[in-house]
Amino acid sequence: MNKREFIKLAGLAGVAAIANPSGLFAGEQHKDLLAAKAPFELPPLPYAAGALEPNIDQLTMEIHHGKHHAAYVKNLNDALKSSPLASKSLAQILSAVTAAAPAIRNNGGGHYNHSLFWSLLSPTKTAPSAKLKSAITAAFGSDEAFRQKFGDAAKGVFGSGWAWLIVKKGGQLAITSTPNQDNPLMTHLAKEPGTPILGLDVWEHAYYLKHQNKRPDYIAAFWNVVNWEKVSALYEEALRK
Ligand code: MN
Repeated sequence: MNKREFIKLAGLAGVAAIANPSGLFAGEQHKDLLAAKAPFELPPLPYAAGALEPNIDQLTMEIHHGKHHAAYVKNLNDALKSSPLASKSLAQILSAVTAAAPAIRNNGGGHYNHSLFWSLLSPTKTAPSAKLKSAITAAFGSDEAFRQKFGDAAKGVFGSGWAWLIVKKGGQLAITSTPNQDNPLMTHLAKEPGTPILGLDVWEHAYYLKHQNKRPDYIAAFWNVVNWEKVSALYEEALRK
């Protein structure tokens, strides 16, 4: 490719990025994540690693995505080589996995959770849809009460894990948490199964460089970068299931 062609291509990619402001895995692309099969690949971040500064710092994003997430992808592919789940989609793997397959549990969860997490963050300010807003008010009383309860779930994870906003089978919203890299799609393992539409990684690797032991500061910073357009799209997708 010559320089002129490269500039033209780069320009087109820029247009595509503007046309898809909610980033990777918006709408159909989240279905692509769930439908994907081995060998799994590390998805690119849908924004620059430093784009979430000062709320989430660039070095944390680089290590979190380029080292931690990359390792989950590699280890998942390795573990699947000798597994009966090898030919299954990521959605099928997550719903079938049990405590008897710890490498697939930890790395399959790690790959899904992080792929989702990157798409749930945004450098630009977004707002939830009117429908999601009223569902949150109906379920939790108010937006503040929701954030309080979600934050309590995140603070309450002992050691490493995730806090989640999920859509339950009947369409109701609920807040839950999971240890390590488990998630609510793991029907055999989650205390409250459902479809995640918002998740917060509270492993120390997600915040220690900037916030050290102050997990509440990290949770407060997280609210500044939530991609509510994406959460709203996932809510619609979950209701259609
Ligand atoms: Mn993580």
